[in-house]
Amino acid sequence: MAKTEPELLSAGRQTAFLWPDPPEEDKYSVCVHCGFCLEVCPTYQEWKDENHSPRGRVFLIKEAAEGKLPLDASVIDSVFTCLDCRACETVCPSGVQVGALIEEARGQVHHAQPKTGMKGAIERFFLRGVFPHPKRLKTLRGLMRFYQKSGLRTAARKTGALRVLPKHLREMEAVIPDIQPKAAIDALPERMPAQGQKKGTAALFTGCVMDVFFSDVNCATARVANRNGLEVLVPRDQICCGALQVHAGDREQARAMARHNIDVFERSGADYVIINAAGCGAALKEYPELFKDDPVYHEKAVAFSKRVRDISELLVEVGYDPPRGKVERTVTYHDACHLCHAQKIRSQPRELLRSIPGLRVIEMPDSERCCGSAGIYNLTHPEMAGTLLERKMDDIPAGVDAVVMGNPGCMMQIRAGVHRRQADLDVLHTVELLDLAYQKEENRR
Ligand code: SF4
Ligand code: SF4
Repeated sequence: MAKTEPELLSAGRQTAFLWPDPPEEDKYSVCVHCGFCLEVCPTYQEWKDENHSPRGRVFLIKEAAEGKLPLDASVIDSVFTCLDCRACETVCPSGVQVGALIEEARGQVHHAQPKTGMKGAIERFFLRGVFPHPKRLKTLRGLMRFYQKSGLRTAARKTGALRVLPKHLREMEAVIPDIQPKAAIDALPERMPAQGQKKGTAALFTGCVMDVFFSDVNCATARVANRNGLEVLVPRDQICCGALQVHAGDREQARAMARHNIDVFERSGADYVIINAAGCGAALKEYPELFKDDPVYHEKAVAFSKRVRDISELLVEVGYDPPRGKVERTVTYHDACHLCHAQKIRSQPRELLRSIPGLRVIEMPDSERCCGSAGIYNLTHPEMAGTLLERKMDDIPAGVDAVVMGNPGCMMQIRAGVHRRQADLDVLHTVELLDLAYQKEENRR
């Protein structure tokens, strides 16, 4: 049974964080309270409340760590309203790892006050019951495809049955892409030889959300990597990366999933692990954070994370053939938080887009501001997520016909924005445009 805060504080420890893997002192103690982070924090920008700013969150975590505050609603609320977008880390002169602190604090809350009722049951069902199990994920995928193809979706929309759902869930339902007959992990061969001179072997991380909703992006990623001299492996026994579990504070479950993936990709013998989903890529690169108290897996996690590359990052690193097929479109690029702030990948996707003949790229103002997707934040905090989505939609420059990005969560969120505004805009992944340009080049031969 969960302990109450007074019990926790009276347990003889000078801290409110009583479980393993707490927020680390060397992370929160380096904050110098300068406040540079305030103006880039989306929740502070909206609420102008220090408790919902990076500086305020770090302070509350420090106070709880030192036993000066119980793990009460003020701390918990502040920690869970954070988008974990890491915009604060980009501007912080002291290198405070706000994202890691937030995730560690959520891990403590997960133990101290496990979610109960319907919310807790739904969260456990998906985060423990579905995502870590590829067969169950496949069943869910099949059910969603059945819903789309059998006429159920049409009937649900015509009869107004969807009106029982809250507005944000109705919007999400409206923008779910057509589910492909097969996920990429089943559709792609296990080994795809490199074209031309071989530059290395890359094992494709197919992900969960990406392979349910955007399996065609995974297939495009494999083709583009092949086209640029990379042999592509698709390890069949990989599972979801565990990012959503880390965001929710369920670090035990995330660790179990990370151990499994580390072993699977180690066995693959690939030089690189390639990924096209910013959130998952950041989680894979940060696996060592999960194993601070496990020397064996910490070492393995460090070796694994060194091999992880976003597809745009790897193409620029090993060299790519500029495509010769023309794609005559005008697009803008949205920086997914976990690509720009967490992985510091900004120039590579732009370089790839600018290499496509005929493609015009117009920069989006404040392109690094979160769109509100943030893992499952758009489901748990729909009001703030909706406000941020509106701001993002306002920033899309006039005259573009597509918004391009490198993360499936952002793709779903911006699709919802396009639907809300009835805008004539496509939402695309960077690699889809590159793949299209290579296909057009192929067709010219
Ligand atoms: S910018 Fe960094 S050091 Fe300054 S207040 Fe924010 S978190 Fe603290
Ligand atoms: S991660 Fe994002 S939402 Fe959280 S404190 Fe930093 S800037 Fe604010």
